[in-house]
Amino acid sequence: GYWGIEISRNREQDDFEIGEELGKGRFSRVCMCVNKHTLDRNAVKIIMKEDMKQDEKDLLRAEIAIMRLVNHPNIIRMEAVYESKKDIFIVMQLHSGGELFDRIVGRPRFTEDEAFTVMYPLVESVAYLHEMGIVHRDLKPENILCGDRIEDIKIADFGLSKMVMPDEIMKMPCGTLTYVAPEVLTLNGYGKEADIWSVGTIMYLLLRGRLPFDGETREEIIENTIHGAIAWQNDPVWANFSEDGKDLVLGMLNKDREKRYTAKAILAHPWITQRECRREEHP
Ligand code: ADP
Ligand code: MG
Repeated sequence: GYWGIEISRNREQDDFEIGEELGKGRFSRVCMCVNKHTLDRNAVKIIMKEDMKQDEKDLLRAEIAIMRLVNHPNIIRMEAVYESKKDIFIVMQLHSGGELFDRIVGRPRFTEDEAFTVMYPLVESVAYLHEMGIVHRDLKPENILCGDRIEDIKIADFGLSKMVMPDEIMKMPCGTLTYVAPEVLTLNGYGKEADIWSVGTIMYLLLRGRLPFDGETREEIIENTIHGAIAWQNDPVWANFSEDGKDLVLGMLNKDREKRYTAKAILAHPWITQRECRREEHP
């Protein structure tokens, strides 16, 4: 069929009992579900095919193809895909500790060591995706799910993701305004590095307790992302952080995408490697 994937038709009613809603998007909602035979608990993303435009269908097809391809402990695993007349059902591993977003708001800022426990698996899995030629394009705390322990993260929502050739340049603006790289907004063409910018905004948010480039209006956020500088000086909060930590954030939030740190380079950065050694000594 259109989706270019093997999907079983009309089996969802037989196999699954759909439960409580976990999240909601424009075309989709994510619910708990229980396999009636095995009693396994899963999450299912239910996508309404009705009213989807061609480019949205293409994105959904890519979402399914990419989820089928990936296999990483910090990325949500897809279990099965089903289709009914109206909907597509993506059954996936349930990761029920809530969104990283909810673990950030309403708590004190993260120390550098606490931020590391989230950043390390995040960068490691982004390096894995980039190595496979996958750009996520919507990395943000709402799309990073936690386990019982906050650091047991899994990347979710490949709804805007794309398989790319090594130096492929993308133009389609997409993502979420406060996390999106400047080159995506200026329509100058972007690549994998756009994901690193988003990871940088997440690290900044963890450490600083607010977004690096924010504003009251869309225009203000765009203006700040493209032209705004990070005010390190005269900021008492940053004064407490290590030079390595600040260098890493700045290296990820470099407005020049060609100079921005790559996922591989981040994994070799002293802010990461020093803490990695300590963790191996005292797991
Ligand atoms: P959308 O494209 O609508 O943003 P997502 O795939 O991000 O869809 O899912 C929406 C929300 O549903 C997520 O932000 C998360 O809160 C919840 N969710 C998604 N997948 C899972 C999962 N596997 N386990 C638990 N909750 C999930
Ligand atoms: Mg999402």
